[in-house]
Amino acid sequence: MDDFDYKEAIDRIKAAFPPGTVQKRGDNGRAYIPNQVYTDRVEEATGSRWNREIRDVEINIPHGFVKVVARVTIGEHYRDGIGFSEIEQDASGKGKSVSNKVDQAYAEAVREALDTWQIGWKNLAPYYQEEKDWAKNPALHHLLQSQAPGEAGRNSVMQARAVVEHYCIFAKCGKQLSRDEWDFLSLIPALNRDKMKFCFEHVPNHLKKKAPADVLKSYEEKFKPK
Ligand SMILES: [Zn+2]
Repeated sequence: MDDFDYKEAIDRIKAAFPPGTVQKRGDNGRAYIPNQVYTDRVEEATGSRWNREIRDVEINIPHGFVKVVARVTIGEHYRDGIGFSEIEQDASGKGKSVSNKVDQAYAEAVREALDTWQIGWKNLAPYYQEEKDWAKNPALHHLLQSQAPGEAGRNSVMQARAVVEHYCIFAKCGKQLSRDEWDFLSLIPALNRDKMKFCFEHVPNHLKKKAPADVLKSYEEKFKPK
């Protein structure tokens, strides 16, 4: 029988990386850990007994996006992640460098899936603590103290990550955007989401209608006013 110890593998995955692992993005200065570091960690922690695969790819050139669903399996457990990347059209309406964009979205989807096992959190928490919504979040304190969080704390930590820096610009709203709401803005063609930040409720209707119909429908279901 297989002697693979799932719990031990996950503990090794979650462990802090050496100093210097965290890098800063050139464009916005945000802290991140390179994908290759994650891959090496999972390889080492599982003794190569893990797998990643593409479950679904949607290439939507008219609406300018690639969406990839990836599954990461460790032992008998799997987690799915979703990655998006934007594609531009060339003059003839064809998508530019689509295969690169698929790779990019796939990498993001794998990262999202691995994130559910809390990879890199101990290293990244101190950076995000400086941002206003992290500093106030009691769910983060255990990460700063380098202790393993309990399951109960996990959702709030993940939400804190998800809403880390975008706020609805609609008058008097100012709501922090969830990851879903931020992703939605990327599905509206030609929208500059660095300026036009709206929570789903406040996305102007004429813009909402530009999103792919099936996506819009699922979001309307999800964000139905209670
Ligand atoms: Zn709003």
